[in-house]
Amino acid sequence: MGAQSRADLVVIGAGIAGLTAALSASAAGLRVVVLNKGPAWVAERAEQPTSTFYAQGGIAVVEPDNPDDSINLHVSDTLAAGAGLTHAAATRPIVTDGWPAITELVERGATFDRNADGRFLRTREGGHSVRRIIHAGGDATGAQVQRALGQAVTNSAGPNLVCIDDAAVTDLIKHDGVVVGAAYRTPDAGEAVIYAPTILLATGGAGHLYAATTNPGGATADGIALALRAGAKVADLEFIQFHPTMLYLDGARGRRTLISEAVRGEGGRLVDADGKSVTAGVHPMGDLAPRDVVARAVEAAMDRTGQPCVYLDVSGVDDFARRFPTVTAGLRAAGLATETTTPDLIPVVPGAHYLCGGVVATPAGETSVPGLLVAGEVSRTGLHGANRLASNSLLEGLVMGRKASAVAAERRGLSVEEALLSVPTSRPAMDRKALQDLMSDEVALQRSATGLDAVARRLGAAPTRAMKSVADLEDAALTLTARAVVAAARAREESRGCHARVDFPDTATEATSRAFVLVNGDIVAVAD
Ligand SMILES: Cc1cc2nc3c(=O)[nH]c(=O)nc-3n(C[C@H](O)[C@H](O)[C@H](O)COP(=O)(O)OP(=O)(O)OC[C@H]3O[C@@H](n4cnc5c(N)ncnc54)[C@H](O)[C@@H]3O)c2cc1C
Repeated sequence: MGAQSRADLVVIGAGIAGLTAALSASAAGLRVVVLNKGPAWVAERAEQPTSTFYAQGGIAVVEPDNPDDSINLHVSDTLAAGAGLTHAAATRPIVTDGWPAITELVERGATFDRNADGRFLRTREGGHSVRRIIHAGGDATGAQVQRALGQAVTNSAGPNLVCIDDAAVTDLIKHDGVVVGAAYRTPDAGEAVIYAPTILLATGGAGHLYAATTNPGGATADGIALALRAGAKVADLEFIQFHPTMLYLDGARGRRTLISEAVRGEGGRLVDADGKSVTAGVHPMGDLAPRDVVARAVEAAMDRTGQPCVYLDVSGVDDFARRFPTVTAGLRAAGLATETTTPDLIPVVPGAHYLCGGVVATPAGETSVPGLLVAGEVSRTGLHGANRLASNSLLEGLVMGRKASAVAAERRGLSVEEALLSVPTSRPAMDRKALQDLMSDEVALQRSATGLDAVARRLGAAPTRAMKSVADLEDAALTLTARAVVAAARAREESRGCHARVDFPDTATEATSRAFVLVNGDIVAVAD
């Protein structure tokens, strides 16, 4: 093992959760090191390394002077979306802390769309009773947030805030049951370790468990695998939200452009290849029904017509390119739009979008392993339950990032025993394409015991591979996380929220979750 260093807080990940924690902690006087698998932040990069950058719709937040809204209303909308598994005890503080967190984000340089009076413009998405979603640049909210946080980190860089880019964390280091450090690799310096009383995982999602996803290339579930290998509990991993409208391109894999729900909010209509409405008769809210309902209606329409996609008819959307510049740029990159024209019919399919579950966390972001915190999409605070309410995830990353910095400040003085790390040089890792195809076929919108068992067998037989490259580490993380997702999906013998079992189509009367841990290489169920 090469270089060794120390910090008060090590943050793993440079999206909304990680950078918010890093900025707050360094402002409070902690020595913070951010380890970022992605490259240094540059606005112009064609492919960006965080989901945060790609967020379109906005951030759900209760503005104190909005007479139509209240904390109670936002909490009840969130509970309704979560299909019985959202934790009220986690939800209320996150929703309540939203406004101060947004105020701080604006102080850090983020600008949101405002009306002529200078008030935030608010939009509405599926599941929200009122307009409470603030946005930036039309549909470029995430790019604005990432820019503001990235710039703030650059401005604050110094002894108290160091960002190491292209640094892939390979292991969490434990001593006497406590996480005390992280091992990472960079192309220049090779292997290194860093010790700190608090390690924050803010590694984002797991979209690349599937052949096509709205997530950026680095969303390979690294944090779930790191936490499992460190002994932490995970839960609700079976709830993977598929967005109903991801751009369809014949044969394309990997990250694909999302077509925001707001397009349907502004008059876009889902039609099948014969021009018939996809959601007619499916749900009273039609095209703006909850995401899992619309995604399954899209899949049913594809089965009915035998076509590989359905279409979003945007002929009724006024000034499409101006209202949706990010979507339009994605259409142009795919050759479906020009500088002056956009298509009336956009081909779309459901796509893996958001991991509702994750590493089990207390309302303060603490995991079941002392020293290890989580924030953002990698965590399972209980806010999302079985189905995330639109635009609640940026809110969660922002609020929980701030909370993590407060916990790290309390833990600052704790002594850290350096521990010898024996890094395994090889791990079970399935071929990525084969894993993604299996997950897409059997662990997507419809699941069954037969399909899940077949996937479990294939994952269990994954060959052990030398961990030479970052791609090897990612494949191993995907393999371990897929095993945990399949175990959770197999154990849930009901259909609820994002999880639908063709062999158990009903929803159980009682909503319960169990957690899973890794014991001697096996994924084992434990009490939540
Ligand atoms: C297309 C799209 C649109 C969305 N729209 C919205 C929206 O409108 N509103 C909303 O609330 N949510 C939206 N979401 C979801 C939301 O963007 C994400 O849930 C949120 O940004 C996650 O933030 P994060 O900080 O947890 O992770 P990310 O922003 O994904 O950042 C993860 C970071 O971890 C790093 N990392 C990963 N593995 C390692 C490792 N091994 N070592 C070191 N670093 C590592 C990555 O490089 C990256 O820097 C959208 C998501 C997508 C993909």
